[in-house]
Amino acid sequence: MEKVVIIGTGCAGLTAALYAARANLQPLVLTGTMPGGLLTTTSVVENYPGFPEGIDGYELMTRLQKQAERFGARVQFGTVESVDLSRRPFAVSIDGDPVETQTLIIATGAGHRHLGLESEHLLDKKGVTYCATCDGALPIFRNQPLVVVGGGDSACEEALYLTRFGSIVYLIHRRDQLRASKIMAERTLAHPKVKPVWDSVVTEILDVRQDKVTGVRVKNLKTGQETTLDCAGVFVAIGHVPNTALFKGMIDLDDAGYVVPAKGTATNVPGVFVAGDCSDRVYRQAITAAGMGCAAAIDCERYLAGLNQ
Ligand code: NAP
Repeated sequence: MEKVVIIGTGCAGLTAALYAARANLQPLVLTGTMPGGLLTTTSVVENYPGFPEGIDGYELMTRLQKQAERFGARVQFGTVESVDLSRRPFAVSIDGDPVETQTLIIATGAGHRHLGLESEHLLDKKGVTYCATCDGALPIFRNQPLVVVGGGDSACEEALYLTRFGSIVYLIHRRDQLRASKIMAERTLAHPKVKPVWDSVVTEILDVRQDKVTGVRVKNLKTGQETTLDCAGVFVAIGHVPNTALFKGMIDLDDAGYVVPAKGTATNVPGVFVAGDCSDRVYRQAITAAGMGCAAAIDCERYLAGLNQ
């Protein structure tokens, strides 16, 4: 039987793994389908303390995993399919294999929010993408007009990154002001290749009949006017949705699906703790996720110490 199973290997999961490992709990850490989490899809992380020149997101996560493994964390590629939290020890099914554990740390993070258009779904990976770092350098996007949808830090980051490849980058935002941090917003809007399209939403991605992206239909929310912009790629960066479907009905979630902790990192189920973006709708930073992971491991260690008294 495991003492601690940690679901997720983003900043929260791996920091929890580091602390749990150093507490001699030999945590079993499950990657899910995205080892290293969303940060591995970022280019340079400029705001993680201790890296004045910035650090590549993938490298940061690789280093964090190595650090946790050095103290005995067992990182395993695998997806948790179901959990039974009504029994003790908890039962976890990992790709069909049953595992029992005394405690669980949920660090499942968040996935990309979709626009919800049928054409978006049909053209996914055919010019529609959610990750500029992963796909931006593809030949189909080179020297072509590109579209980024969103107004937050992610959208700005994607737009700036894409200026390396595209001929022009349209930044389509539903309001007339970016939500992004001031430094990111200013840097983005100052770039000569970035053309903001304010107060506008994408109503359709063209062209499903050609089975590739050739443009977007855009509606100005103030005037109601619809126009078409030619482009070879659409990069959707409109925020995230927490990966918590697995826990519905067992763990308290808010209306948007974020885990609601009962106290500190403890959830409503004793022995189950939570950390990172799956329970954070406010800060959502790499460093806050790491901090929550640390707290969850400490809370978990204390809980186990209480059990074994
Ligand atoms: P976000 O801050 O939640 O921004 C999402 C953006 O998408 C907002 O501008 C929002 O518009 C827009 N949006 C949401 N739903 C939409 C829809 N259905 N249609 C059209 N537009 C929609 O998300 P994020 O940019 O992914 O950032 C998440 C967190 O990570 C933030 O805390 C951010 O600071 C952090 N982050 C930091 C960095 C960095 O520091 N370098 C990089 C990436 C992310 P409204 O503005 O109108 O709500």
